[in-house]
Amino acid sequence: MTALELGEGIRQGRWTVPEVVETAFQAIERENNRINAFVTLDRERAMERACQVQRQIRAGELSSPLAGVPFAVKDNLCTPGLPVTCASKMLKGYVPPYTATAVRRLEAAGGILLGKVNMDEFAMGADSESSVFSHTANPLDPGRTAGGSSGGSAAAVAAGLCWYALGSDTGGSVRQPAAYCGLVGMKPSYGAVSRYGLVAYASSMDQIGPIARSAADCAAIVREMAGKDPMDCTSEEISLTPAMPRQVAVAADCFARLGSAGERQQRELICRLEEKKIGWQICRLEELERALAAYYVIAAAEASSNLERYDGVRFGRRAENCREPGELIRRSRSEGFGPEVKKRILLGTLALTEGGYLRALMERERLKKRLADLLSDSDLLALPTTFHEAPLLGSGPIYQEDRFTVPANLAGLPALSLPMGRGETGLPLGIQLVGRRGMDGQVLEGAMLLLGEERRQSVWNGR
Ligand code: GLN
Repeated sequence: MTALELGEGIRQGRWTVPEVVETAFQAIERENNRINAFVTLDRERAMERACQVQRQIRAGELSSPLAGVPFAVKDNLCTPGLPVTCASKMLKGYVPPYTATAVRRLEAAGGILLGKVNMDEFAMGADSESSVFSHTANPLDPGRTAGGSSGGSAAAVAAGLCWYALGSDTGGSVRQPAAYCGLVGMKPSYGAVSRYGLVAYASSMDQIGPIARSAADCAAIVREMAGKDPMDCTSEEISLTPAMPRQVAVAADCFARLGSAGERQQRELICRLEEKKIGWQICRLEELERALAAYYVIAAAEASSNLERYDGVRFGRRAENCREPGELIRRSRSEGFGPEVKKRILLGTLALTEGGYLRALMERERLKKRLADLLSDSDLLALPTTFHEAPLLGSGPIYQEDRFTVPANLAGLPALSLPMGRGETGLPLGIQLVGRRGMDGQVLEGAMLLLGEERRQSVWNGR
């Protein structure tokens, strides 16, 4: 059942909110050991909130289609009273005093937060294996990764432990796990959703986004979360009106790189576009290798700066028995961060001192121009989300898998992954729709059309 279907059932009185929340916790008790999606549960408060939201719905005080629907959030989003660990030893035991704007807005709409879900340490990775809580397994095949870094968010939804989950996407971390788990995941335009209360990885690319069972769910979730927030000066109003896409640019060279699975994806995509009477044209996107290199330089440089604050003095775990401040900082950082995070900090510091950062920024500008050109003729760009279906656990870091997802982050564009086609093993693959900056409504409308979600009109009108 999708989040919107559940919300509708709650409004019609078919289920009560406490009943629904109880069902979710029972599923978590049954399944979570197998997949390791949830790392913190908030049962008592969720049950209290369920009763409160049920009363508000009865009194007609909540009009959101998501009222009463339980959700989970990635463990890099702050909520008071619950630890936020970023899956790192560094933040163990830290309980933030405030709520991330995105979570606050969903709760104000009547959403019920069940708990926090697993991720790669500080959101650096693509398989959730660098987590201090150990990996998250893919519910479709527990021998494989659920993806990352928002692996817990995707696994929790795919296993039916909640109806949607929030992740963060700096280079693909919402879209890639959504694709590996057969779900829909969206990275809104940069600035569409406030980053207040999201622990920073690379601030010029970080965005919070939903993972859900349908594009209509994603539309409803983004509608609740989006909008200017005085606590994040990069946040802005975006268009969430259902602009119908008239023309889609299909990046044929990208699909070709997946071999026969990509050819099948492209055929299916074109078939569905024609069915929905949306025009299409073939394009090429050859800048991907350079974009990937630029992404890793920029992301690491920003991370090395953002993570500087964890020194055991003001922030982060403090090493014990140190004789002098230098040793305290050195040992706190050495003991608190895992190997992947250390690698990024070193790479980023090097890039900042060697001029690599500036070259990467120039590459970013070139890519922005190229994408703007492509999106001047066409309303949307379509390309695969990943090269492969979910890899086996323990395959090691898969930096190359980010090649198709990082361009949207570098350019700040809205991008959504929806399930289309299958890989060699029969597991799902995803394709991405990328839109113009601020035209998130058009991306969502395109996705709903391609997925044949006929109820889409009610999402845009419903309030
Ligand atoms: N896999 C990419 C990285 O490791 C993307 C991570 C993300 O989007 N948070 O940087």
